[in-house]
Amino acid sequence: MSISRQKALEDVLERTPRHRERPSNKISQYYGENVFNLHTMREYLTDEACDSILDAMDNHTSISRSIADQVASALKEWAISRGATHYTHWFQPLTGATAEKHDSFITPTGDGRAIEKFDGSLLVQQEPDASSFPNGGIRNTFEARGYTLWDPTSPAFVWESTLCIPTIFISYTGFALDNKMPLLKALARVDSAATDVCQYFDKNVTKVVATLGWEQEYFLVDKSLHGARPDLQLTGRALFGAPPAKGQQLDDHYFGSIPARASAFMKEFELESHKLGIPVTTRHNEVAPNQFECAPVFEEANLANDHNLLLMEVMEQVARKHDFRVLLHEKPYPGLNGSGKHNNWSLGTNTGVNLLKPGNNPKTNLRFLTFFINTLAALHTHADIVRASFASAGNDHRLGGNEAPPAIVSAFIGSQLSELLDELETSIKAGKLTPEDKTALKLEIGRIPEVLLDNTDRNRTSTFAFTGNKFELRAVGSTANCAVPMTVLNTIVSEQLESFKVAVDQRIDKGEKKDDALLKELQKLITQSKAIRFEGNGYSDEWVVEAAKRGLSNLKNTPEALEVFNRPEVIELFEKQQVLRKEEVHARVEVELENYILKLQIEARVLLQMARGTILPAAIDYQSQLLLNVQSLNDVFGEDAMKYGGAQLDLVKQAGALIQQIHRESLELDSIHDALEKLESASEKAKGYAEKMFPCMEALGATCAQLEVTVDDALWPLPKFTELLFTR
Ligand code: ADP
Ligand code: MG
Repeated sequence: MSISRQKALEDVLERTPRHRERPSNKISQYYGENVFNLHTMREYLTDEACDSILDAMDNHTSISRSIADQVASALKEWAISRGATHYTHWFQPLTGATAEKHDSFITPTGDGRAIEKFDGSLLVQQEPDASSFPNGGIRNTFEARGYTLWDPTSPAFVWESTLCIPTIFISYTGFALDNKMPLLKALARVDSAATDVCQYFDKNVTKVVATLGWEQEYFLVDKSLHGARPDLQLTGRALFGAPPAKGQQLDDHYFGSIPARASAFMKEFELESHKLGIPVTTRHNEVAPNQFECAPVFEEANLANDHNLLLMEVMEQVARKHDFRVLLHEKPYPGLNGSGKHNNWSLGTNTGVNLLKPGNNPKTNLRFLTFFINTLAALHTHADIVRASFASAGNDHRLGGNEAPPAIVSAFIGSQLSELLDELETSIKAGKLTPEDKTALKLEIGRIPEVLLDNTDRNRTSTFAFTGNKFELRAVGSTANCAVPMTVLNTIVSEQLESFKVAVDQRIDKGEKKDDALLKELQKLITQSKAIRFEGNGYSDEWVVEAAKRGLSNLKNTPEALEVFNRPEVIELFEKQQVLRKEEVHARVEVELENYILKLQIEARVLLQMARGTILPAAIDYQSQLLLNVQSLNDVFGEDAMKYGGAQLDLVKQAGALIQQIHRESLELDSIHDALEKLESASEKAKGYAEKMFPCMEALGATCAQLEVTVDDALWPLPKFTELLFTR
C-alpha cells in the first residue's frame, strides 16, 4: 500500500535541508582516502609488489601468487583501518547494475575466537553463487559456476564498511558474463591498433588509452511523493501524468540556482564521491525542473566506467539520507525532458598527446586528421552497432523524442572542419600530388587550430558530435552501463585503424612516400564516410527523409536495434577483434531482449493495476459526487434543475466517456499482453511488445492523464507532476 498523496505532500512541507559537515574544507585532504590507490599502495606494499601491479596495469601482465598474497594482506590491513569489516568482489553482470556478495574477514580459530583473514586466493578469484545472474544460456544450470577475477587496473575501495574489489565475471568455460571483460578486451585492442598507427608520427608512442568523460543526468524526487506513486516505485518512471502548467518552457531551471535541499544532497554525494576518488567536478541544473547533471574529469575508460557505476550507487545511498529518491530512468515523466549520459571519448598517448586534438603544425595535424577521419569512417561503417549499443527500454522513450538525438546515427563536426574535409577530398583526389598541391595541402592542414578556435557552434541534436578535442556520444541513456557503448566504439575504431594501417603500409611498400600514402588513404575514407556527416537539425522531419536517402538506418526501437548484434558480419567483427565470441554475442542479445521484455511486462502490469485500482475508482467517486449534486438540484428545482445543473451533467458525461475509454483500453492491453505472453521466441515477443503493446500502454496512459485534469483535485489519489517536480 503506498502512502496517500495528502500525507506525502505534508511530509515534503516539513522537510528542511540536511547539511552535513565536511571533514575539512580542502578537497585534497580527503580526496581518494577510501581508495587503495598508487599513493596508498606505496605506503603499504613493497616496491616489488607495486611494480608488479603497475606492470599488470600498463602491459596486461599477470600477477604472481606471492605478490597477490602480499597485496591481499596489505589490502586487508588498510581496509580495516578504514573501518571495513567485509569484503566483496564487485562486478557488472549483464543486468546493467553492479553486483556484490559480501563476506566477512572473520575466520574462526577453533578456540571460540576469530581472526581477520584475507589472502591472495580470495583476492584473485571468487565463485559467487551466481546461477541467478542472467547469462543468456551460456552457463547451464548443472554447471552453474561463474568466477569473478580481480581486475588490478581498477583500484579497490572501501564503501560502507566493505572492501570492494573490482572484478570481471566469467563462466567456468571462460565466457564473459559481464560488461567489464569485453570492455577491457576492446581497450587493449584499440591500444594496440592506435599505437601502431602512431608509429607513422612518433616512434616514442608505446601505449594509447581510450579516455571517457561521462555526464550523468538524473532527477530528484522527495521520498514520500515517490512512495505515493507505485509506478515510480516499481518501474522507476511515472507511467502517466498531466504535464505541469509550468514546465520547461521558461528555461529558467537550466543553470538556475540549485534548491537548498538538492544542494545539501549534492554536497554530500560529491564529498563521498571524492573520498572514493571519483573526480566529480561540475554540477548544475538541467532543462527540466528537479533535474540535475554531474560530470567528472575524464579518466581512462575502464576506470571512468567503474566510477560511473559506483557514482550511481553512491547517489542513491546518499539521496536516501536526504529523504530523496534518485530517478536515473531515461524518461521519468512523459512529456518532459528525459535523462541521458553523454559519453565523451578520445584517445591519449603515453607521450601525453590527445590524438583528437589538432596540433599547431602540419605534422601534428596530419596525425589529428588520421585519427579524426578514421573515427568518422568507423562510425559510418558500423553505425548500426553503435545504435544497438545504446538500445534499452528506457532509452526508447528518449531517442526520437524531442530532447535526444534521433535513433539515426550521424556525426557533427562543425562547418569549418566539414569544409576542410571537403577541400582535402578534392585536392587529394586530383591524382598524383604535385609539389604545389602538397604546399597547398600543408597550408590547409596547418590551418586547423585557427579554424577550431571559432568553431564554437555546438550541435546538440547530433548523436556523435566533435567538440574540439573529443567526440561526444550523446545518445547513451542515463541508466546505461557505459561499458557497452565504449566496448563497441573502441572495437570499431580498432578495426578501422587496423585496416587503415594495412592500406597505408601497402602503398609505402610500393614506394609511395609516407605522407602521400596517408593522405590518399584519408581521402578515400573522407569520400566513403561522407553520408554519416550531418550538420543540420537532427530533430527535424527532413533529416529522417534525408537520412533514408543517404542509406542510413533508423532503428526505432530496442528489439529492432538488438537484431544488429545477430548479423553475421557483426559477430565476425567481434570475433576478429577478439572482444566477444559468437556465443557471447548471442547470449548478450538474449539477455538484453529478456531485460526489455521484463521491463515492459512490469510496466504494463503496473499500469493496468493503477488504471483499474486507483484511477477508475477516483473517477467514479467524482462522477458519483456530480450525480448526487444533479439529483439534489432536481429535488430542489424540479423542472428548472438543468438551469443550474447543465454543466454538472456535461462533466458527468465527460468523466463517463473517459471511464469507458479506460475500461476499453485496459481490456485491450490485457488481451494483447496475454496473447504476446504465449509467444515462445523472445525476439518475437519483444517485437510484439514494441510494436503492439507499447502503443496501447501509451494510449491508456494518455487517457489516465486526461482524467487527471477532469477529476476534482481533492479526489485525485496520486501526486501530480507539478508536485513531484516543484515541491521541494
Ligand atoms: P558539455 O555539457 O558542454 O558537453 P561538460 O564540461 O559538462 O560539457 O562535459 C565535458 C566532459 O568531457 C567532461 O566529463 C570532461 O571530463 C570530458 N572530457 C574532456 N576532455 C576529454 C577527453 N580528452 N576524453 C574524454 N573526455 C573528455
Ligand atoms: Mg555534453
